[in-house]
Amino acid sequence: MSFLVPLMLILAAFLGMEFMAWFTHKYVMHGFLWSWHEDHHKPHHEKKGFWEKNDRFFLVFAVPSFFCYLLGSLLEETRFLLYIGIGISIYGICYFLVHDVYIHRRFDWFTHLDNRYSKAILRAHGAHHAKQTKEDCESFGMLFVNKKYYGNRDKTKS
Ligand SMILES: [Zn+2]
Ligand SMILES: [Zn+2]
Repeated sequence: MSFLVPLMLILAAFLGMEFMAWFTHKYVMHGFLWSWHEDHHKPHHEKKGFWEKNDRFFLVFAVPSFFCYLLGSLLEETRFLLYIGIGISIYGICYFLVHDVYIHRRFDWFTHLDNRYSKAILRAHGAHHAKQTKEDCESFGMLFVNKKYYGNRDKTKS
């Protein structure tokens, strides 16, 4: 297998996960599992301790990647699953770093990050958190940010 195939599989899984994260957030977390996600929409001062019920979703997303690693390492025929598992894991790490660390500051890292993309991510997710209710929220994705959140480019700078 050329190295391109694993690379494409990892990339496809990564991109697929952005869709899955958006879909799950919109239809599951703001749907029948709102009771697990609700505390993530509570204002900061109402939160107790480090963990949120919402963190259970990390475990939920770990299950498919676990099975991908397991089945993907068994046979040559199922090897492609291993690369899909790797793609899911990389997405999980990125999601954690962007959503939990950068946006919600659960750790003190990347506090000086300041560019058009990082600001757009903050605005988009800020818009999502503007409401504390199950309904009427917007911007459920994470890494793909709607153009409207980029703001206007400062024309005085090049
Ligand atoms: Zn939400
Ligand atoms: Zn959030």
